Amino acid sequence: MTALHDARTLFADLTGREQDGVWSAPGRVNLIGEHTDYNEGFVLPFAIQHRTFAAAAARDDDRIRVASTFADHPVEVSLGDLKTLFPTAPGTIPAVPEWSAYALGVAWALGALRVDAPIGVDIAIASDVPVGAGLSSSAAIEGAVAAALDELWALGLDPVALAQAGRRAENEAVGAPTGIMDQMASTLGRADAATFLDCRTLETRSIPTGFEAAGLELLVIDTQVKHAHSTGGYRERRDACERGAALLGIRSLRDATTADLPRAAELMDDTTFRRVRHVITENQRVLDTVSVLETEGPRGIGDLLVASHASMRDDFEISIAELDTAVDTALAQGALGARMTGGGFGGAAIALVERSQVAPIADAVERAFAEARFTAPHIFTVTPSDGPRRDT
Ligand code: ADP
Ligand code: MG
Repeated sequence: MTALHDARTLFADLTGREQDGVWSAPGRVNLIGEHTDYNEGFVLPFAIQHRTFAAAAARDDDRIRVASTFADHPVEVSLGDLKTLFPTAPGTIPAVPEWSAYALGVAWALGALRVDAPIGVDIAIASDVPVGAGLSSSAAIEGAVAAALDELWALGLDPVALAQAGRRAENEAVGAPTGIMDQMASTLGRADAATFLDCRTLETRSIPTGFEAAGLELLVIDTQVKHAHSTGGYRERRDACERGAALLGIRSLRDATTADLPRAAELMDDTTFRRVRHVITENQRVLDTVSVLETEGPRGIGDLLVASHASMRDDFEISIAELDTAVDTALAQGALGARMTGGGFGGAAIALVERSQVAPIADAVERAFAEARFTAPHIFTVTPSDGPRRDT
């Protein structure tokens, strides 16, 4: 609970008074369903126990001030300024420090919903969600700020509305072209369950994971290699998916199934075909994972995780040597399944392991990284956890 404490301390340093409350929201990990979101397909993430905390209080003027343990200086603007700051023009950087655009962007997105006079707020943020590891520290900061403002501004929003505000902040204030998976995973989080999300209809279903009852743990192996959405690789994959859908004559790859693969192979060049095959088979693997969890329980999903990794490594070509080493070593040491998670080109892998095997598998992965002369990985377990809440 140190991040909670840090948020309170930072708030006191910033304002010299007591916060009205502390609100928090979780990061998330994606169990399966990678690069399916922008193809209007399926994903199965879950909220994790790592959270971002926002200590906050109303002010008696119309100013909004945010501080984070992450940044040297707080940022302060008037609520009226938010309309002039955002949306950030495409291709430009926000006029405020980028980290603050996540929080101020949420205030801007929620401000549009307000009916009565605006109330200024002070917000102090601290987090134990690792940044840039594919665990969505961005959705966590958005969710924590949204939960705080929801109560301080008496908005009465549901989890989906909180997620939509976070997504607007990320897309239009920060300018990151991401889908809504991260925010939905965070705001709809439930202990011991993952969130099945249909990225076309935004329908969601809570799917019990049953890890704890089965004596299983989910290991995260953060390679410490930073991913960046701005790399050409991400754009190339999106373009290939759009090209593939156009060649198949469908709106998005969501509308294709494995039965369409032979036709796809005839219609497109080899690279485009392999990109398309990843998305089509990955959508099927998400559906299969949901049904295996619901019928057999978590011990049955290992092979689906392994197949997902192979597809990302060979067809979508977004893995890196560190991620392959993490996955291969975990499997060789008896993990039930393992795969890279997140957008690729860095970030983390996950491995589903027996509780008794957590330490030996983590040790083996650390040794394999040392032998390959990779940066030492950061290894920890994650537990499916609840969404936003008020902590104090
Ligand atoms: P991630 O995979 O962790 O979501 P992103 O690039 O989407 O990676 O978001 C990380 C960014 O979010 C950071 O660079 C920072 O700007 C912002 N951020 C995350 N957590 C915090 C925090 N506690 N305080 C301030 N900014 C944060
Ligand atoms: Mg993010």
